[in-house]
Amino acid sequence: MQTKEFKAESKRLLDMMINSIYTHKEIFLREIISNASDAIDKLYFKSLTDTSVGLNKDDFAINIALDSENKTITVSDNGIGMTEDELENNLGTIARSGSLAFKNDNELGEDVDIIGQFGVGFYSTFMVAKEVQVLTKAYGSDKAYLWKSNGVDGYTVEEAEKTDGAGTTITMYLKDDTEDEKYSRFCDQYQVQSLVKKYSDYIRFPIKMEVEHTNYTENSDKPEITKEIETLNSMTPIWKKNKNELTDDDYNNFYIEKFMDYEPPITHIHSKNEGIATYDALLYIPARAPFDYYSKDYEKGLQLYSSGVLIMEKCADLLPDWFSFVKGVVDSEDLSLNISRELLQQDRQVKIIAKNLEKSIKNELTKMLKNDREKYEKFYEVFGLQFKFGIYQSYGSANDTLKDLLMFKSSFNNGENVTLKEYVSRMKEEQKYIFYACGETKERIEQLPQMEKLRDKGYEVLYFTQDVDEFAIKVMINYDGKVFRSISDADLDLDTEEEKEEAKKLDEENKDMFTFMQEAISDKVKSVRLSKKLKSHPVCLSSDGGPITIEMEKVLNSMPQNDGSNRVKAEKALEINPNHAIFEKLKNLYTTDKDTLKDYTKLLYDQALLIEGLSIDDPVEFANLICELMSK
Ligand code: ADP
Repeated sequence: MQTKEFKAESKRLLDMMINSIYTHKEIFLREIISNASDAIDKLYFKSLTDTSVGLNKDDFAINIALDSENKTITVSDNGIGMTEDELENNLGTIARSGSLAFKNDNELGEDVDIIGQFGVGFYSTFMVAKEVQVLTKAYGSDKAYLWKSNGVDGYTVEEAEKTDGAGTTITMYLKDDTEDEKYSRFCDQYQVQSLVKKYSDYIRFPIKMEVEHTNYTENSDKPEITKEIETLNSMTPIWKKNKNELTDDDYNNFYIEKFMDYEPPITHIHSKNEGIATYDALLYIPARAPFDYYSKDYEKGLQLYSSGVLIMEKCADLLPDWFSFVKGVVDSEDLSLNISRELLQQDRQVKIIAKNLEKSIKNELTKMLKNDREKYEKFYEVFGLQFKFGIYQSYGSANDTLKDLLMFKSSFNNGENVTLKEYVSRMKEEQKYIFYACGETKERIEQLPQMEKLRDKGYEVLYFTQDVDEFAIKVMINYDGKVFRSISDADLDLDTEEEKEEAKKLDEENKDMFTFMQEAISDKVKSVRLSKKLKSHPVCLSSDGGPITIEMEKVLNSMPQNDGSNRVKAEKALEINPNHAIFEKLKNLYTTDKDTLKDYTKLLYDQALLIEGLSIDDPVEFANLICELMSK
């Protein structure tokens, strides 16, 4: 018989399994049981619509057999089984091993991460077994096959005998005990009983095992040993149980095994609903984002069950994009088993359930924000970005759901997170706007020249450090009737009437000079004008109307799909501080030396760009002009 090689990726995974120092090797059992349950699910599902399957719900079971003499543990199911091709494809290459690509060549110890992080399915058996045999017969086929491997030298597949119908039997020959690891414990009945309880209690099909009982009777010294087949799991899915029967550990264990995370979730939401829509839902908010969360590969969705039967692994229609990080299970008796993906999308029940779930999630997060700020901030650190995308991508239809869940850093308390509600509650009586400033970091923003005057006024400024921030609030327009205003906007309306009058006068007086200066950089700015928002800094840039702000220009032009041909440009104004010494100098030059004024204007413009974090168009010219000045 020919020994076949594992695919390269699988080999790496196997190597890792065999040499694993992972401390929770016991999880192999849950992986195998979960595969068995999936396989039964498939055949059970078929049996509901196809009477020729000939099995009732009660006929399906997972059996465990222990042989302490030969040190084996065997798990069998009467599920869908595998054809010869499936056997090759499923066990010769493990799809999940693709996740290895995300890891560097593993050094010792790194496997711990991978095993926990991705769950490693069938191959985890090689953490405890020196050889694994899989005997399987696919439903509808009359041939059975035996797959064997020690995980090292590849595997063999041969035709075999299997008389008890479709299904799969997996036999694991346990490794020899070592000082550190007692593999033989996996054929100890008490161990196995407790592992099934711990990890697989909710499995919907009975997990049966022959269990020995030792009975002492009064009349005899010798205990009587009886053997009985027992069902080890309670079979009630956790979401069907009552909340008061469940501990946080129960909830967390279920999450970890079901959704292959190695960290318990931040919180869970268990809801039971009757009425227009009848369903049980158990939702989780993970503590960390999956590695692909912010990529297009990430698929949102909840597991959808119809009266306890899994009908869809990831039902995307149950979750809005802004809550796409939520994991969980929804079980409803209102749904037909045979509902297709397309029909599901239009299903009224699904829509109602989705609306309800959205509300529950929002309420849970609102509660967390109110009662456990630290936890909420931790959550927000990981998933908050999604809310901002949500507002932007929904064109504002998610505003009401999300506006009070948003947080921004602000000038209020040294860059700590604040909510919009908190901001508004602190607004000064005469303050008209919610001010925000865009920049790469808090430090950069705090250095912006415009900040000074706002600080003096005692106005709080939100720090927008994420690209999406400004896009999101442009969609929101206002919060609670208070309009958002960028501190780079043309007019921040900070001055008293008197100050305004004064500024207007000064502006008029110097009109000709500003026009001259604008002409010197006419391809760059729409106007040059007096600034009303600068205190000690000489210049700043500000938006001069138009839909695109300076920050948006930065973001849009740095997007990967932007090849340069479709660059956008914000309409800008160069603002000059009339209280800065440079202003007098400019006025002076305007009457005595217009050529130098031109150079100064260019330099001032470039300086303003640099302060904004934008790059200057012609760094060489900039450097030359400075040198010229220096050598004067
Ligand atoms: P996963 O379960 O995540 O797909 P596994 O490594 O556990 O990954 O299993 C690989 C594949 O092998 C499964 O997707 C399934 O198609 C098949 N398989 C494993 N165990 C069984 C079983 N008991 N019955 C039928 N098919 C199985």
